[in-house]
Amino acid sequence: MMSDNLSNFIKQMNELKDVLEPQPFGNGGKKIAKPSMVKKVATIIGVKTTASRFIPVSHEGYSTDTYIDRVDIFGVNRAEFIGRKQKGIERRAHMTMFRELLENMSGQKWEDVFKKYFGDTCIIPDDLCLACWNCSLFGGLEAGKGAVFSRIRYFDTYSIEPAEFAVAMEGSEEGMAIGNTVSENLSAKRGSDSYHQYEYVKAGTHFPFIAIIENPTLLDVIGYIRAVRIADNQGYGKYSANHGKFDTQFLAVSTGYPRFSVLDMIEWAGEDYSIKNVLDMFNGKKPGVEFDTVTDVPIALYGDEIDEMAQLLSREFKMYFEMLKG
Ligand SMILES: [Zn+2]
Repeated sequence: MMSDNLSNFIKQMNELKDVLEPQPFGNGGKKIAKPSMVKKVATIIGVKTTASRFIPVSHEGYSTDTYIDRVDIFGVNRAEFIGRKQKGIERRAHMTMFRELLENMSGQKWEDVFKKYFGDTCIIPDDLCLACWNCSLFGGLEAGKGAVFSRIRYFDTYSIEPAEFAVAMEGSEEGMAIGNTVSENLSAKRGSDSYHQYEYVKAGTHFPFIAIIENPTLLDVIGYIRAVRIADNQGYGKYSANHGKFDTQFLAVSTGYPRFSVLDMIEWAGEDYSIKNVLDMFNGKKPGVEFDTVTDVPIALYGDEIDEMAQLLSREFKMYFEMLKG
């Protein structure tokens, strides 16, 4: 039996058809995700712990040396993990997961299902369909097709631990790592020019995060939570084939806006930079861990209730597919 708290949470979510049903757009029979008026939100709060080397860089391209993004917060230099990067990786993981689910459920190739119901396939980032559940959540802009605003908001985050402990860098005990810029092109000639040095965030470093989904359906919230697990294994950041793996712990999922920020969560860690202090805030639901809504009384899920909700993925996606079929 589902707990009252979880069923109350679900009652505050939007109906699938009110948010995720594609609408006709223009005269060509093209469909596009619904524009959304923000009345409700779901806030997802957690902490990501690096399970491997992580190279958060927001700039593209190769150079002789790679330095990670850093910033000073509360007088301490920290590694910076920008929201845009997190969003890009999680969007891809979300699509990968749902394509597999779609093929299992429909017995058809995902491309055929997309063409039938959305008028096009959907390729991230350059050829989006603008009509599917992924485009509705993450948004998109395509010439000649229109625009869909993202319903999910990310925030930049920073390591709880100071860079001096958390980052392998020039002068640190580990030093910078050595990489090979042509390692993936076996025909390229390797020489001393092809080697470079890079900084990296060490395993065991903690990044608190907050994501807010506007006009959420239960499918959006569960889909996000499950996609993060896949993204954690695929890797975030540069050279993500073997770097940037995370373990994510979800601390709270609420139907309200948080009355705290990522910076508050960093402050809660205290002067000993202890993740335990942050977890304790959520375990005991201490003053400070509070949520606001415009209309309803906010419902927050913690711990096992979040996992219980995440088990409803197939059920919700089946309802979505039934809605598409009409
Ligand atoms: Zn799409």
